[in-house]
Amino acid sequence: MNFQTMRQKDGKHCIQNYGRYAVAFDHGKGSLLYDFEGKEYIDFSSGIGVNSIGHANPHWVEAISRQAEKLAHVSNLFFTEPYCTLAQRLTTLAGMKATFFCNSGAEANEAAMKLARKYSHDKYGEGRSVIVTLNQSFHGRTMATLTATGQPDYHMYFAPFVEGFRYVKANDEESLKQSITPEVCAIMVEGIQGEGGVIPLDREFVERLASLAMEHDILLIFDEVQTGNGRTGDFFSYQGFGVSPDLVTTAKGLGGGLPIGALLANEKCSSVLTPGTHGSTFGGNPIACAGANAVLDIVTEDGFLEQVGRKGDKIRQTVAGWKLPIIKDVRGKGLMLGIEIKDISTKEIMAGLLEKGLVILTAGTNVLRLLPPLTITDSEIDQGLRILYKHLVNL
Ligand SMILES: *Cc1c(COP(=O)(O)O)cnc(C)c1O
Repeated sequence: MNFQTMRQKDGKHCIQNYGRYAVAFDHGKGSLLYDFEGKEYIDFSSGIGVNSIGHANPHWVEAISRQAEKLAHVSNLFFTEPYCTLAQRLTTLAGMKATFFCNSGAEANEAAMKLARKYSHDKYGEGRSVIVTLNQSFHGRTMATLTATGQPDYHMYFAPFVEGFRYVKANDEESLKQSITPEVCAIMVEGIQGEGGVIPLDREFVERLASLAMEHDILLIFDEVQTGNGRTGDFFSYQGFGVSPDLVTTAKGLGGGLPIGALLANEKCSSVLTPGTHGSTFGGNPIACAGANAVLDIVTEDGFLEQVGRKGDKIRQTVAGWKLPIIKDVRGKGLMLGIEIKDISTKEIMAGLLEKGLVILTAGTNVLRLLPPLTITDSEIDQGLRILYKHLVNL
């Protein structure tokens, strides 16, 4: 099938809810992607932070192939090995007590919010169900996670929303303090706001969040859907802030390309959800968990996360060193970076870069977002940055 045929079939048979770019990818290898004409691209996007160990990683391919030959699915009426192994590894890495598996970031956040409300209901009864989130946050597209998402643009058309949400300005301790009333049961944040524009939370703000939450027995939820699994150079971004959340959600990079989400709960929250109170048909799927175990094999290798940090610093310093007038700011941590652009459409920049063989992402309306595979090599980084520089310097 060629690109034109795909475009035609998509237009005719798919709901047009995506604004796709004019490229169809055929295959990938590591941090390289190839379209149907054989043109090569450097991937600074990882399929929105998903392909954490690159495309077609041989260890990952072998792990999921072997699992597919044995058993793809039996449902959560039974035990299977891959999710048991993964749960043990994730809770150990996170310093948490127990795991619930699902299939996406939104679904993990739904589980966290249900758990938080039940925790409060079990302990305090009705009327303590408000969840505080931040302006510019992104928590998903389902009705509850959309409500949690603090960006009015996403809310258009979809009223009425789920009750019991309240929004606070990121990094504003005063606004945070005012939002904490007796009705609040949880606060949910991203360590670095991804979709909202690659906006890192301040350490002081996060420490304040953690102490307020502790003081009022409000559950602190870290949405690590984008920041998790090594993306920021820490396994989870909260570890870089030195705080201990009650609940952690993750998804994107965990499965290395397969759909999987997870909710991690600390000791205090580990037995709130009881049989029948929550579930997911595909949750803990053996193939998805085998893929995630293969991702963890690589991300937990000695020195791997340090390399993520080093590569991120190198990109950030290189871009900052260009001193281009259209670049207003470079920020982020590890391989989750944002380049704030002045006066030019970031969507157009992204399209221009695709033509030149570099895949990046945008965030908000004025930020170029880089989420390369964590396994990207230095020479691939250099090659990608050369394309980026040549494009930006001529704008
Ligand atoms: C992508 C994302 C989500 C939603 O994940 P889906 O898998 O698309 O449901 C939630 N939270 C954050 C921080 C994200 O980046």
